[in-house]
Amino acid sequence: MKADEIRIDNLEVFAYHGVRRDEKENGQTFYVNAVLYTDIRPAGREDDVSLSTNYSEICHFITNWMQETLYDLIETVAETLAEQILLNFGAIQGIVLEIRKPHAPVGLPFESVSVRIERSWHQVYLSVGSNLGDRAAFIKQGIDQLEEHLLIQVQKVADTVETEGYGFTDQPKFLNTAVKARTLLTPRELLDQLKLIEDSAGRTREVRWGPRTLDLDIVFYDKLIYEDDRLILPHVDMENRYFVLKPLSQLAPNFRHPILGKTVMQMLEALDTDKD
Ligand code: AMP
Repeated sequence: MKADEIRIDNLEVFAYHGVRRDEKENGQTFYVNAVLYTDIRPAGREDDVSLSTNYSEICHFITNWMQETLYDLIETVAETLAEQILLNFGAIQGIVLEIRKPHAPVGLPFESVSVRIERSWHQVYLSVGSNLGDRAAFIKQGIDQLEEHLLIQVQKVADTVETEGYGFTDQPKFLNTAVKARTLLTPRELLDQLKLIEDSAGRTREVRWGPRTLDLDIVFYDKLIYEDDRLILPHVDMENRYFVLKPLSQLAPNFRHPILGKTVMQMLEALDTDKD
């Protein structure tokens, strides 16, 4: 995420967040520190504020947000505020946000309590497929639902390709595509969301690799290498799947697999060669 930074130090905001009733009634002073990651070079070269993220606007945005909302926890203030800044200021790629509360009701001498979080947009590539019913309509429905999600922004959709079923071949042909998107969701949250979308297309899981109305997979999540009981990133075996690589090669031919070290195009070409 490391990029140029705009920094806001100790913005003072009077607001009413807190667990206790007196905090909500009387209010108190909060201090906000923010580091905004964005590309400063275009504005810096042209000396043009319209090419930059206006820090005065951000300061007012932070103040308004903190004064118009009422939360128990500064954790929630930080979480929602970081999200709102990333959603409303498109050029900001990431943010480190600290909310300090110097007058928190602790009953002991102390300087301040604070929370500090780091949030950013993540670049993801998804694989989308269907081989039951009106396949194109299911794919469109899936992509429409991705677009409707507040924390997912679809950037590009590849052309569809038609392929034979994988693994279990005695089934209708698949239609597949790939999606480039950016998201504020964590990998697990994104997976949960994909499952909800699959389920709303009437997906049932009877046969592994069997017929399905809609299949949504996370192929890449940034360059993240990750594994738990439900999720493997990058998607396991993607390098052997033509129906993943072909549409993906249209969106990200030079994207390099973080473990295999090969670009999408190189993986696709290796597959074509193997077929011969
Ligand atoms: P499938 O039948 O291809 O949709 O497989 C779905 C299962 O694979 C899900 O239940 C996930 O928990 C698991 N899975 C592991 N890695 C991924 C990934 N990168 N994207 C989507 N699903 C994954």
